[in-house]
Amino acid sequence: MWLIRAWMEEEIEWSESLGKILYACTNCNNCVQSCKFPFNDEIVNIITATREEVVANGLVMPKVARFFRNIEAYGNPYREPRENRGRWAEGMGIEPYQGQEFLFYVGCVGSFDEKGQRAAKALGELLTKAGVSFGILGSREECDGNEVNMLGESRIFQMLREKNSQLFKDAGVKKIITLSPHAYNVFRKEYPGGLEVFHYTRILADLIKEGKLKPTSKLNRRVSYHDPCFLGRHAGEYEAPRQILAAIPGVELVEMERNRENSFCCGGGSANFYTDFFGGGENSPSRIRVREAGKSGASVLAVACPTCAVMLGEAIKDEGIEEKLVIKDIAEILGEPVSHQ
Ligand code: SF4
Repeated sequence: MWLIRAWMEEEIEWSESLGKILYACTNCNNCVQSCKFPFNDEIVNIITATREEVVANGLVMPKVARFFRNIEAYGNPYREPRENRGRWAEGMGIEPYQGQEFLFYVGCVGSFDEKGQRAAKALGELLTKAGVSFGILGSREECDGNEVNMLGESRIFQMLREKNSQLFKDAGVKKIITLSPHAYNVFRKEYPGGLEVFHYTRILADLIKEGKLKPTSKLNRRVSYHDPCFLGRHAGEYEAPRQILAAIPGVELVEMERNRENSFCCGGGSANFYTDFFGGGENSPSRIRVREAGKSGASVLAVACPTCAVMLGEAIKDEGIEEKLVIKDIAEILGEPVSHQ
């Protein structure tokens, strides 16, 4: 904050190291939660507004500029052709969206990253088993724009928001289930009203409560849950993921030292999963977090965000603890032992 003010007041020049500091903020919201100053609610907004200034002044760092270019050209940061977007669902019998009760919005990481695709498949299977009326947009789906917005590129964000809003309107979408808490955040807060948006953990927790999904077999594992910033601190949803895990027989839920409001970010927000301003060093947030998970005694680290799955999965490899700790999305864990009534 001091550096931002110094730059705004022209006491310091723009530099690469200032850029690294500014872009390393993951918008995790921990400062909003913890800071005692009266402007705490505005800290993340100030960071985003500063990034908007950086865009306006043509000072965007190359890694971030590449992220923007890819989103604008391909609709995703992976440079994947649009027609590949629904490939993860091939052979699963999941219908294209055509007026079903829910649109299952998968997002870029769920569509293209291998770990994200596993979570998307597990969730698709669970929704199908529970008889939920839903469909996907496949190649019509577009990036939701949460990270673009947080990185201050308002022109591209507005374009994405308009495209998606028009698509939802034309298709008659009223209710959305998101795989990613990042999409959940932006659809609720930045898109025009009239949409009911649910993170999938709330849907699954309710399906279990209603008896439409019944976990039966035993998992017999100690499981720790990592609260994603955009589901926890940004949306206040701490219980649905824990309700799902608690309903699975054999799951012993153990908390990490930092949990719920005090959860420690995986380091992937604000597109850091792509731009990686932290690098993979041993003091990177993701490696600190998996060491913390290891200390809890868990052998499974449950996540409810495909970005966290990618970040923490890589950190487990970098730490060399693959034998002791595995990452699984909550939908995957529930998908293993669940039976349909
Ligand atoms: S990384 Fe998190 S705690 Fe740090 S400034 Fe950004 S939002 Fe605040």
